[in-house]
Amino acid sequence: MREHIERVLFSAEEIQRRVRELGAQISRDYRNGGKKDPFGRPLLVVGLLKGALPFMADLIRNLDIPIHYDFMAVSSYRNGTSPGEVRVLKDLDCAVGRRDVLIVEDIVDTGHTLRHILRSLQAREPASLKVCTLLDKPYRREVAVPVDYVGFVVPENVFVVGYGLDYAELYRNLPFIGVLKPEYIREA
Ligand code: 5GP
Repeated sequence: MREHIERVLFSAEEIQRRVRELGAQISRDYRNGGKKDPFGRPLLVVGLLKGALPFMADLIRNLDIPIHYDFMAVSSYRNGTSPGEVRVLKDLDCAVGRRDVLIVEDIVDTGHTLRHILRSLQAREPASLKVCTLLDKPYRREVAVPVDYVGFVVPENVFVVGYGLDYAELYRNLPFIGVLKPEYIREA
C-alpha cells in the first residue's frame, strides 16, 4: 500500500505525538470544570465510523479521565447523494440526555456531515457537546460548525488517505496520512 502514496503529510510519529497532546488537553479541560452532567457521569466519547476508528482508539488511551465510549455511523453524501442527505446508519446504543458528549471525527471538510450529527445529538439535550477532529480543511467549509479540538489542518486542498481515511474503502490501515498517487485514483 505504501507504494500507492505520493507523499506523506503526517507521519505515524507526528500523529502519535499530536494525539498525546490532544489527550492531555481534553483530560485537563474536562477535569477543570468542563463537565456539566448534573449526575457526574463519565464523559461519553462518540466515535464516527468508520474513519475515526484508529484516531479514536489512540485518543481514548491518552485520556486520563473516566470515560464511556460509543459509536455512530452516518452515510456519506459523497456516495452519489446530495450534501443535505446525511443518514444515520448506526445510532448510539446509549442515551445522551444531560451527559457530557465529545464527538470524535476523522476530518471536517464542507461541514455538512458534522452539522447533521450535531443537530441530531443536540436534539437529545446533552449537558455539553464538543467536537474533536483529527483533520480539518477550514477553507472548504460550506456550513459553519463548531470544532473544539483539531489535530492538524490539512495545509492544502488535497484528498488524503490513511489512519482511518479511505479511498474506495482502502488505505484505512496505513499508520500515516498521505496523498495518493494519481494513477490509483479512478474516475467515477
Ligand atoms: P464533510 O461533510 O465535512 O464535507 O465531509 C466529511 C467526510 O468526508 C469525512 O468524514 C470523510 O469521510 C470525507 N472526506 C472529506 N475530505 C476527505 C479527504 O481528504 N480524504 C478522505 N479519505 N475522506 C475525506
